[in-house]
Amino acid sequence: MKKILFISSEVHPLIKTGGLADVAGSLPIALAELGQEVRILMPKYQALKLEQEVEYRCTLRVNNRDVNILETRLPGSGVIVWLVDCPEYFDTPGNPYTDEFGNAWENSAARFSLFCRIAVEVSQNRAHLDWKADIAHCNDWQSGLVPALLTLEPHRPSTVFTIHNMAYQGLFPEATYIELNLPGQLWNPGALEFHDLLSFIKGGIACADHITTVSPTYALEIQTADYGYGLEGLLHHRHHELNGIINGIDVEVWNPETDPRIAQNYGIDSLAKKAGNKAALQQHFSLPEEPATPLIGLIGRLVDQKGIDLVIDCLDELINYPVQFVLLGSGEKGFEHRLKNLSYLYPDKISVSIGYNEDLAHMIEAGSDMFLMPSRFEPCGLNQLYSQRYGTLPIVRKTGGLTDTVVDAMPDTIKDKTASGFVFEEPTAGAMLETIKRAILLYTNKRSWQQIQKNAMRKDFSWQQSAQQYLNLYNSL
Ligand code: ADP
Repeated sequence: MKKILFISSEVHPLIKTGGLADVAGSLPIALAELGQEVRILMPKYQALKLEQEVEYRCTLRVNNRDVNILETRLPGSGVIVWLVDCPEYFDTPGNPYTDEFGNAWENSAARFSLFCRIAVEVSQNRAHLDWKADIAHCNDWQSGLVPALLTLEPHRPSTVFTIHNMAYQGLFPEATYIELNLPGQLWNPGALEFHDLLSFIKGGIACADHITTVSPTYALEIQTADYGYGLEGLLHHRHHELNGIINGIDVEVWNPETDPRIAQNYGIDSLAKKAGNKAALQQHFSLPEEPATPLIGLIGRLVDQKGIDLVIDCLDELINYPVQFVLLGSGEKGFEHRLKNLSYLYPDKISVSIGYNEDLAHMIEAGSDMFLMPSRFEPCGLNQLYSQRYGTLPIVRKTGGLTDTVVDAMPDTIKDKTASGFVFEEPTAGAMLETIKRAILLYTNKRSWQQIQKNAMRKDFSWQQSAQQYLNLYNSL
C-alpha cells in the first residue's frame, strides 16, 4: 500500500476549468479503490463548491506566512482532501488562474510557489498531520516546483510529474525568483532556469523521478519542436522516464443507459432510442426535426488549440451538404462572433450556444450522430471518449490522445470491427471537410453505421485500467 499525495490546482467537482480537474476528481478515487492511501492537496479558493464538512487540521509557517490546512472529503467518496488555506492568496473572487474579469492573476507565481512549498511540507510529514507520503504526484506547472524543492531533501518521497498540457508553463522573470525567496541551488538550467526565466513546468520535467503525460502519442509529440515549447530537448533526454497513460472517464456520469440529463436513455441493444435525443436536440437548437439528416456536434473551449478556425473556414461549404451542426462553447470573442454570425446566416443548418453548460453537453453527446474534434494538439481529450460511449462517432484530427483512442473507419477496420470514428491528418479545413464527407456517405449505410456505433460503445474507457498503470508506475519507483 502506497501513501500518495495527489497535488492539483483544480479538482472536480470542487472547482474545474478543464480536463485536469476531471482527472484529479477521478484518479484518486480509482487509486483508493485499488487499496492505496490517497490524499488530495489543493488551494482553498473562494469559488470552491464545498458540500462536505470542512475541519481545521493545523497551521504551518512557510516563507514568513501562516497557512492553515483544512480537511474535507471528495463528494461521493471517502477520499480526503487537504485544502491549503491562505486567504491573502486564495480567498479572492475568480477562478484558479484568473480574476473575475478573466485577467491572469498578477501574483500567480507567489500563489503557486506557496502552494508548492506547502506540498513539500505535507509530503515530508512536517505539517503536524502525522502522514508521510511515499509518492508526491504533481500535475501541471502549478505544482512544478515540488519535484525541484524535494531534490534538496535527503529523505523524500518519489516524485511523479504529469503533463496535462504543455502549452501552459508558468514562466516568470528572474526577478520573481528572487522575490519568491526560492533556493539559489535550483537557479540553473538543470532545474528551474529556462533561458533566464523561472519555469515552473521545468521543475517537474527536469527534477521528477518520472514524467507522465495523458496519452502515449502526446508523450512522443512533446519531444518534438512543434509541441515541446523549447523543452523538447530535455523531454527527449528524459524519454526513458517519460510515458503516456490515457485518461479514463467517469462512466457513471457519462452513461447513456442511465444519464438523467438526456431525453431518452438507450444502450447498445436499444440504439433506435437514440433518435429521441436527436429530435430533442434539434428542438432545443431550433433546427428542423429531420431524423435522416446527419447531425454533427461540437463542445469545447473556443481557442486556437481546438481548431475552431478550421471549423469556421469549412462551414460555408459544409452547408451545401445534407447536414446540421450544433456547437456549445466559449472562449475567444472573435471565434464566438464568427460562429454566431454563421448561425444567423444559415439558421436551418447551424446553431450555436455560447457558454458553459453541462446539461447541454450531455444532450449534445446523446443527440448528435457525429462529434467534431479538429484539434491542433490534444494531450488526451475527453469528449471523443464520451462520444464513443454514446454511439456518436467522433471525427478527429490525428494528434495526441485522439490518435490513441479513435480508430478510423477504413475497409479493414470496418471489417474487423475495430472502427470507432473518423480520422484526418492535416490541420486544414480541406482535409477536415473530406473526412466529414466520408462520414456523411457512410451514414447512409445504416448497417455499417450501426456496427461502428456498437464498436465504439463497447470500448472500455473506465479509470480502472489507467489507475492500475499509475499504480504499477508508483511501485516501480
Ligand atoms: P480541455 O481540458 O483542453 O478543455 P478536454 O476535452 O480534456 O479539453 O476536457 C474538457 C472538458 O470540459 C470536457 O469534460 C468537456 O465536456 C467540458 N467542456 C468544455 N467546454 C464546455 C462547455 N462549453 N460546456 C460544457 N462542458 C464543456
